Amino acid sequence: MSAIILDGSATARKIREELTAQTAELTSSTGVVPRLDVVLVGDDPASVTYVGMKKRAAEAAGMRSETHRLSADATQEQVLELVRSLNADPGVHGILVQHPVPRHLDEQAILDAVSPEKDVDGISSLSLGRLLTGLPSFRPCTPLGIIRLLDEYGVEIQGRRAVVVGRSIILGKPAGLLLLERHATVTVCHSRTQDLPAICCEADILVAAVGKAEMIRGDWIKPGACVIDAGYNRLPGRDRDVGDVRYEEASAVAGRITPVPGGVGPMTIAMLLQNTLEAARLQAGV
Ligand code: NDP
Repeated sequence: MSAIILDGSATARKIREELTAQTAELTSSTGVVPRLDVVLVGDDPASVTYVGMKKRAAEAAGMRSETHRLSADATQEQVLELVRSLNADPGVHGILVQHPVPRHLDEQAILDAVSPEKDVDGISSLSLGRLLTGLPSFRPCTPLGIIRLLDEYGVEIQGRRAVVVGRSIILGKPAGLLLLERHATVTVCHSRTQDLPAICCEADILVAAVGKAEMIRGDWIKPGACVIDAGYNRLPGRDRDVGDVRYEEASAVAGRITPVPGGVGPMTIAMLLQNTLEAARLQAGV
């Protein structure tokens, strides 16, 4: 038996169509065109690609998007000054600082400089603290996309055992918190977890957020489990990226599984647009 595929591309397409209609509605009723501005420091090729994708996606949904590029040797003060000017600009509703920023910069201080009402990436200390507290904030886009995908496919979360492998601040930790908020029983694993395969085997919902190509094997998966693979890894000799899960093995055991590509990735962009529209609505008092 092969697992049901959780098709992130198709789901994201449907969400983006809905967001396009809602954006048009907001614009026709209030004159407000939601605008997402991206700060890109340096010229890391992957970051340049991601920023381009986000801008095109925003524009395709009827939003505006500007990219502000600073050179790789920009100072902390120059980046902060740019963020402050975007905070102060009433025409800008969402701000995303593309990360990672060059190593000489204090990334957390830059993320924390984004106004909470414009923090559509949801990874400032304040937004994450509000998630921890259970207060409203923009939730980080990749974990939010994971929950939305589970919901779209009717995967029950409440009461289920969820295991998240990875504890990064943008992905693993907030994914664990969002699953906890939805009443899963959550275990978050990391590089020092002992007997990882046995813990993964207990998961009804297994979220792989490690960044290690095909690390999670078929025999780490409980039969019938739902496997969410957030990983994107380049392997030499492969023409496309692979996830953190060995797909062929896992899909033979799992009940549901996300492909890579076409699973979590497209959902992340859809959630960024959703947060941007919500930011514009809130700032317009709608
Ligand atoms: P990080 O490198 O920041 O975090 C990786 C996490 O995995 C860490 O918590 C680390 O543990 C843990 N880890 C590393 N090795 C092991 C191991 N052998 N066993 C158990 N845990 C381990 O990565 P990110 O969270 O930023 O990204 C993870 C993956 O998700 C990457 O492939 C990335 O490309 C992808 N990604 C995809 C996105 C999307 O839109 N689909 C968005 C963001 C990321 P420790 O904390 O102990 O070091």
